Amino acid sequence: MMLNFYPGPSKVYPEVRTYLTDAYDEGILGTPHRGEQFVQLSRATVGLLKRKLNIPQDYLIFYASSATECWEILIQSLTTKKSFHIYNGSFGEKWMEYAQKLRPASEGHAFDVNEAMPVDQLEISSDTELICFTQNETSNGTQVTPTTILNLHNRYRDTLIAVDATSSMAGLNLKLIKADIWFASVQKCFGLPSGLAIMCCSPRTIFRAKQIAELQHYNSLVSMYEKMLNYQTTTTPNVLDIYLLRRVLEDRPFIKSLEQSLVDRSQELYEFFSQFQDIQLLVENEEVRSKTVIALQASERLVDDIKKRALHHNIKLGNGYGNWQRNTFRVANFPAILDEEYEELKRFFLHYYA
Ligand SMILES: *Cc1c(COP(=O)(O)O)cnc(C)c1O
Repeated sequence: MMLNFYPGPSKVYPEVRTYLTDAYDEGILGTPHRGEQFVQLSRATVGLLKRKLNIPQDYLIFYASSATECWEILIQSLTTKKSFHIYNGSFGEKWMEYAQKLRPASEGHAFDVNEAMPVDQLEISSDTELICFTQNETSNGTQVTPTTILNLHNRYRDTLIAVDATSSMAGLNLKLIKADIWFASVQKCFGLPSGLAIMCCSPRTIFRAKQIAELQHYNSLVSMYEKMLNYQTTTTPNVLDIYLLRRVLEDRPFIKSLEQSLVDRSQELYEFFSQFQDIQLLVENEEVRSKTVIALQASERLVDDIKKRALHHNIKLGNGYGNWQRNTFRVANFPAILDEEYEELKRFFLHYYA
């Protein structure tokens, strides 16, 4: 069996194997997405998401097919002129680039991986319609802390704030109330196969979308909202993934206790990897280190050696990403990965690299 520490697509919960057969046996796979069986599944899934992940009752939940699709939906439906992007890595930057293709006036502020998101230094013009940032930057293993999010929220109360939480939602107990839009695809912390994303929106997001009334796309937010009033989608959705999501959520602990064990484990992993002479933690500032994606830096030659040797031992590590492609590797700290699997990973590193 391969041990999979890749930060997305990542290890799926082993129970998924049984859920897949159950989905087939329950006849959910061939059921129409306008019918009662689907609506019941969708309603149950939305209820579980809210309960298990601490999503405020009045937030609206939508299904999309990927986080990338969410980037585009939000720009299309919530901006007419421009958005503002605060980023320190590849995913945040890509979101800005897509935004600029649709709304060329969109702007950004880049910050350093070892710096907290610099809320005080931001110069966001008053005609900005959407502020965007990535809570957990998967490409370099950094995070934006709850305190920083609160500061941003307090400084820009009148502007909608959208958060890409693709590699932290369902892992961390995010305070959704401090921003308007949060989204994630399910192939990271949710421990599910790719092809589904979840987007959570505050009531004023919907109010704003209705004001703008952008209806030029199949997934315009207003159209999605109208369908979701009855737990439906504008297109035939990924019914199988929604089914798997419901089953996984039913079996999972509440996010608060899940977060605690994940945070403890991240602490152990950072401590563990601090002991190697030739391997450094990419992020030196402890405060901005991600809890769910550990980024490690070494010479290109050593990184190459580690990844190859690991594969030889049936251990899949995450490649570096973007600017850090060749001289870093990443280790996912996602809920579906067992403590025993990390013990095996540690034995591997102690044996070959201590
Ligand atoms: C993986 C990832 C994405 C892209 O997700 P898709 O579902 O492939 O579109 C976007 N943002 C972040 C932060 C990610 O980790």
